[in-house]
Amino acid sequence: MEEMKKPVIGILSLQGAFLEHETMLRSLGAEMVEIRNRNNLASFDGLILPGGESTTMRKLLKEEDLYNPLKEQIEKGLPTLATCAGMILLARKLSNDENPCFGTLPVTVKRNAYGRQLGSFITRAEIRGLGPFRMNFIRAPYVTEADPSVDILSKVDGRIVAVRYKNQTALAFHPELGTDTRIHEKFLEQCRKWKKK
Ligand code: GLN
Repeated sequence: MEEMKKPVIGILSLQGAFLEHETMLRSLGAEMVEIRNRNNLASFDGLILPGGESTTMRKLLKEEDLYNPLKEQIEKGLPTLATCAGMILLARKLSNDENPCFGTLPVTVKRNAYGRQLGSFITRAEIRGLGPFRMNFIRAPYVTEADPSVDILSKVDGRIVAVRYKNQTALAFHPELGTDTRIHEKFLEQCRKWKKK
């Protein structure tokens, strides 16, 4: 029998919490490629935009000439999982920052939305189609407005913290920092389907 080829996942590794995603996805059988410059661009079956500092990532994406090729891939339908700063990179509009990045996700996102008092916290909430999930928020954003075409996957205290739009899944929290691999498993499933096309 022909051996099933591993899905190849590109992970934006300019800055931030990319290693944790990498470890989790590798443990689930994916092959990982760290994207740092144009030489790392290959034919991926999925893309991870990790947490970190979105302003730094946006600047480096442009400096490294990665902005256009990645945006094109996202628009073509490449399965994309974005966490925290990654969600900020995808948003079409930012309520407290004039510079959106890819703008491929029709939502408005507020950066550092929980303020200083509640900078970081852990809670448990329901994710549609998945069940309860332990969510780790670190100076997190949330979605303040979403186009009707966007699926709202989860809310915490009435605020939207997880959405899906076509191939793009964006989370305000960090699933890669826990031990629950369900979100990453679902993402890999999506990548395998995309690969078969
Ligand atoms: N506060 C960060 C930003 O605005 C995001 C925080 C995170 O990714 N943990 O980019």
